[in-house]
Amino acid sequence: MRKSSKTVKLKGMQDITEKLKQLNFKGEIDDSAETRDFYSHDASLFEIQPQLVVMPQDSSDVQMLIGLVGKEKANNSSLSVTARSAGTDMAGGAINDSIIVDFTKHFTTIGSVSSTEATSQPGVFYRDFEKETLKHNAIMPSYPASRDLCTVGGMVANNAGGEKSLEYGKTKDFVNELRVVFSDGNEYMVRPLTKQELDAKIAQGDFEGNIYKQIYELCEASYDVIKAARPTVSKNSMGYTLWEVWDRETGIFDLTRLIVGSEGTLGFVTSLTYRLVPTRPHSGLLVMFLKDIDKLGEVINIVLAHKPATFESFDDATLLLSIKFMPYFLKMLGVKAFIKLLFGLIPDAAQLIRGIPKLVLMVEFNGESVDEVKTKIKALHKELGLKRAYYEINGIEEDDSEIKSEKFWIMRRQSFQLLRKKVKDKHTAPFIDDLVVNPEYLPQFLPELRKIIKKYNLFATITGHMGDGNFHIIPLMKLEDPRERAKLLPAMKEVNELVLKYHGSLSGEHNDGLVRGPWLEQQFGKETVDLFRGVKHIFDPQNIFNPHKKSDADWDYSFGHIRDHF
Ligand SMILES: Cc1cc2nc3c(=O)[nH]c(=O)nc-3n(C[C@H](O)[C@H](O)[C@H](O)COP(=O)(O)OP(=O)(O)OC[C@H]3O[C@@H](n4cnc5c(N)ncnc54)[C@H](O)[C@@H]3O)c2cc1C
Repeated sequence: MRKSSKTVKLKGMQDITEKLKQLNFKGEIDDSAETRDFYSHDASLFEIQPQLVVMPQDSSDVQMLIGLVGKEKANNSSLSVTARSAGTDMAGGAINDSIIVDFTKHFTTIGSVSSTEATSQPGVFYRDFEKETLKHNAIMPSYPASRDLCTVGGMVANNAGGEKSLEYGKTKDFVNELRVVFSDGNEYMVRPLTKQELDAKIAQGDFEGNIYKQIYELCEASYDVIKAARPTVSKNSMGYTLWEVWDRETGIFDLTRLIVGSEGTLGFVTSLTYRLVPTRPHSGLLVMFLKDIDKLGEVINIVLAHKPATFESFDDATLLLSIKFMPYFLKMLGVKAFIKLLFGLIPDAAQLIRGIPKLVLMVEFNGESVDEVKTKIKALHKELGLKRAYYEINGIEEDDSEIKSEKFWIMRRQSFQLLRKKVKDKHTAPFIDDLVVNPEYLPQFLPELRKIIKKYNLFATITGHMGDGNFHIIPLMKLEDPRERAKLLPAMKEVNELVLKYHGSLSGEHNDGLVRGPWLEQQFGKETVDLFRGVKHIFDPQNIFNPHKKSDADWDYSFGHIRDHF
């Protein structure tokens, strides 16, 4: 029998509220049914109602809250704290049944910004952060497709990635330093340390020093196991990035690599400093319509050899969906931009009349001048063009203007958001939404994947980062129907096993949350997951931070909280 999260009543929350008020907690404390209902969802397929929502005003509020929860945990084992920023998490990482800590109300200040570095509080929306960095002709390039919806703090906690990760890497590669409140209720600066600095930290002998000591000892004791656990794909958000913490060769010990991507299970981020890269003044897009995917492997190899900045794709289902929901684009873009979009589509209509392509591939090049971009596009166009018939690419368009290429980016970036808003009695069910396999396997992998999708009769679009082999498959389902819900586990099992057969990762960007945490042992093996459990215990011995995620996840708990009403 499924247990509704709404029937679970946690004791002692009134007590916590009273104590916070006595301690002069400055932010809002809200236990109204309406607020708790709002915070019981993120963008995942789960629902868990919290007992209390707080909006700390500053770091001292966060420290006070964590300190109090740490003290009260002994009397109330169900007490915990889960950070939340914009709540766009697709894995259930931002929901829980105790206290939700919302950072978007007050942690909204952008600090110093230069052309190489920017400091910000975690609740700042990426779209606002980017406005400031663009004044310095710089960006933080790991931004996700949800860049208009999500915050810079949520990006840290999920180790977010996106279309530019092929060239630049993921969020972990752009974190210079973090301020983090640990489970003892104090805020600490976390940044890469030399061995000498690490030794000094360890010598402190206090709570912070002991974290460094124990993590260092764990890394040393299992050095080879940890290094061997590193996924062999270019993108991964599963588990804790333990293999990047301690490097004997460089002598660098970098605890930011553990905090980034940890879903707030090790501490709460109160401030972050991102490294920035210069914007490139010019870019251009080569779009390919692929009629069949047999030769995809060869196309991918040729494209990657040309070192594009981005290499994205979407499938025929996405294309049809985008065409069906044109009125949504009108609303989103406004009349002027929408008309421009329609005109832009005219040349492509000719391609579509010849048959709907199975895949649309988008290859973007950047450069310092228009000529540089044109040269790069033409070189690839020429190489692919020679084998055009062979590859059955039934149309190649050279496209070096933002305006002309915008239509493809809209389809690529907006498809999931579109599905979330639009489809009658069905809802997006992200449970196989972020898999990664090395591009060399895609020609075998994609048909096998499609077979599973067909077997379970799932209506699913496939969009993704082709260059990294990272795909977002988000079926539309009626999860209220027990027959549909019953498909989740077997379909997920088959897809996950397929990904692991091809040495992939179950998550490139969206992280584990409730949906993939239970798969960590299949992904990494028990020995490595035991090390993850060790990491969690060192940072958070009482398990106050975001329980049921990462190495604390189990499928029965997750499955018991799948939404049954929308
Ligand atoms: C339409 C759509 C498209 C998406 N596309 C992408 C994509 O291309 N790439 C990608 O990586 N993701 C994508 N996502 C997932 C998500 O948007 C990103 O991972 C994003 O970075 C999460 O940010 P957020 O502010 O919404 O965080 P939230 O959802 O609020 O939180 C995310 C996680 O971070 C933790 N957290 C939040 N704030 C803090 C804090 N201050 N300290 C510690 N932990 C914290 C939460 O507990 C949770 O575990 C997409 C989501 C949607 C809805």
